[in-house]
Amino acid sequence: MIYLDNNATTYLPPEVREAMMPYFSEEYGNAASVHTFGSRLMNQMDSARESVGRLIGADPKDDLTFTSGGTESNNAILYSVVKKFPNRRHIITSTVEHSSVAKVAEDLEKQGYEITRVPVDREGRLDLNFFKNSIRSDTALVTLMWANNETGVLSPVAEISKITRQKGVLFHSDAVQAIGKVKINVSETPVDFLSVSAHKLHGPKGIGLLYVRKGVPFAPLILGGAQQNGRRAGTENMAGIVGFAVASDMAQKFVADVKKLEQEEKLCRKLEEGLLNRVSDITIAGQGAQRIPNTSQIIFEQTEGEALLQMMSDAGIYASGGSTCTAGTTQPSHVLLAMGFNEKQSGAAIRFSLSRYTTEDEINGVLEIMPKLVSKLRSI
Ligand code: PLP
Repeated sequence: MIYLDNNATTYLPPEVREAMMPYFSEEYGNAASVHTFGSRLMNQMDSARESVGRLIGADPKDDLTFTSGGTESNNAILYSVVKKFPNRRHIITSTVEHSSVAKVAEDLEKQGYEITRVPVDREGRLDLNFFKNSIRSDTALVTLMWANNETGVLSPVAEISKITRQKGVLFHSDAVQAIGKVKINVSETPVDFLSVSAHKLHGPKGIGLLYVRKGVPFAPLILGGAQQNGRRAGTENMAGIVGFAVASDMAQKFVADVKKLEQEEKLCRKLEEGLLNRVSDITIAGQGAQRIPNTSQIIFEQTEGEALLQMMSDAGIYASGGSTCTAGTTQPSHVLLAMGFNEKQSGAAIRFSLSRYTTEDEINGVLEIMPKLVSKLRSI
């Protein structure tokens, strides 16, 4: 099999799996217990927090809370801000956010909040002037993703954070698709909130992180016990936390290794150039923008993405489409539509997402098979 769907989820390497195993068996204690069989797990949790904190360049005084993943972190941050700042009724987001931000923004809109959605250009780049001019005295939060999950296009987070600092507005970035792919340092790029998900960086599913800069007010989304200083109730997922820590240490090494990062980018460019040379009428979404090194969203004109994905799957190549299928109906990608592509083009898009485990042989395999599949589909 050739797995090129790493923006959906990633391979769990043996180092991570082995570190997690004891927490499914002999280390079954509850970290909140008074007795040492449980409470000793607190040390593991603290050291895991340090690992994840190092990966994002957090200050030890910042607040790092484990959640169930990127979706929960995004929900918790948006609902926290509106709870803490009830008189600020305006939120700035973009037209290309992940649904775990976009749906919360829609929910807040129904509750009477004003939502400004910053548009993007044909390459998926945010309109920074529009953004600057959107900030108001009653803006509660700016929430803009670090990298787009469909196209890989990076947001100018350093510039955005400078502007939000100057204007005194809180800034959240959904960094789920950027962490472990590019260097992120919240001490150098001052965001107030950050969302992270372990399963996108070769960690386990069902565990994520919610970062809150020290001193920034936060109201928990999940209420109950006093776990994690009352910031997220519920018995901690120790196996997940420990796996997340090991995956973070490995990801940190990877992003610090320029050669390895370049190698991944080289493979992704090889895939793009190879397809451009071998297949007619294709467009790479966001090709002119700065992107994370692993993602390539390609529109194969005059094809049906779903049919192509099925043929690819039959041939052992796993990727994603530009449309999402919900309850039997196919929805065009809001990201591609926001970039000015039409519904047909959105339906003809395939997202390839590589990982640090992707090999040149696999890319060669894709370059050999894809042209045959596309011409077969176009001839039907
Ligand atoms: N944010 C982005 C940009 C994503 O790509 C995803 C998952 O695809 C999420 C948030 C949700 O993360 P999780 O699957 O951990 O809930």
